[in-house]
Amino acid sequence: MTQFKESLAIEKLPSVQGRYSFGHLMSQTTWFKVGGAADLLFRPADTVDLCHFLKNKPSNLAITCIGAGSNLLVRDGGIEGCVVKLGSGFSDISIENDLVIAGAGCLDRTVAMKCQEAGLSGLEFLVGIPGTIGGALAMNAGAYENETKDFLEWFEFVDQQGVLHRLHTNEIHMTYRHGNLPAGAIAVRAAFRCIKKDPNEIRIKVSDYLHKREESQPIRGRTGGSTFKNPSQGSKAWELIDLAGCRGLRIGDAQVSEKHCNFLLNLDAARANDIEALGTMVQKKVKEITGQELEWEIIRIGSRL
Ligand SMILES: Cc1cc2nc3c(=O)[nH]c(=O)nc-3n(C[C@H](O)[C@H](O)[C@H](O)COP(=O)(O)OP(=O)(O)OC[C@H]3O[C@@H](n4cnc5c(N)ncnc54)[C@H](O)[C@@H]3O)c2cc1C
Repeated sequence: MTQFKESLAIEKLPSVQGRYSFGHLMSQTTWFKVGGAADLLFRPADTVDLCHFLKNKPSNLAITCIGAGSNLLVRDGGIEGCVVKLGSGFSDISIENDLVIAGAGCLDRTVAMKCQEAGLSGLEFLVGIPGTIGGALAMNAGAYENETKDFLEWFEFVDQQGVLHRLHTNEIHMTYRHGNLPAGAIAVRAAFRCIKKDPNEIRIKVSDYLHKREESQPIRGRTGGSTFKNPSQGSKAWELIDLAGCRGLRIGDAQVSEKHCNFLLNLDAARANDIEALGTMVQKKVKEITGQELEWEIIRIGSRL
């Protein structure tokens, strides 16, 4: 056992309210259904438990926080150290007038539906994004001309030393698909300023967004959503991929979606390596044919086999 692995011995870990799982297979957790094992998965019971864990964990234990795994490509060699996954202790939603306060473990869809019920407009775009509020903050998730930062008032995070902080939107610089959270921050709660509107109007917008998505994206496939960011020159990543002739391209069971060619799919038994190699091949072909560079939007983590 290496010195690093020794630090994962149960007796060296702080005693917590939440759950530890050793050797957790990340393919069970990611939307792509690929990824090797994490040495340790920790599901904290709540913010106090998370702070306690971070304050008392072995100092050489690397921490990776994940949400619903809908924007992640975890490599086949797995993740060294501890993966923190926020669960039900981070799923409260409360509403104070037009302010919606949601735990970072809440699913985006749940928050959007709660706003609809309360007659609060703004977060309708979250309805079809299959991640959590934590993931939406980290990625500045967006759709249909809206981004998370447009409605964010403040968010709270725990740093690697286990200390809780609050930052207001004007204190961070969120950009296109980049939340720019402080290094190592684990977001635990966020507040969004919405606008009171007729619930019927909101309902129509929500179902329109869901319908558009169903029509244009392989939402039931094993995917990570948009693979590449749209280049800043105004062109769309999917148009460049199409121009480069990559629609339907395959490596083993990894395929560029026929329906939306900025989505990669695991058709059945693809490994993370196949999916990453396919993405790299797409980047190369797009560069050759269009001269443009595509930047990964999907977060790739872990080690190769
Ligand atoms: C079918 C499909 C459709 C999609 N459509 C869209 C879309 O329209 N718009 C869009 O923006 N995205 C879209 N995505 C991508 C994805 O859903 C979003 O990026 C989402 O915000 C990721 O949230 P998550 O909880 O799944 O995060 P994960 O994928 O688990 O993690 C993504 C990143 O967020 C970090 N993170 C997660 N939780 C926290 C936390 N609590 N604190 C700090 N960091 C954290 C992780 O470390 C990682 O870097 C789509 C994905 C799929 C599969």
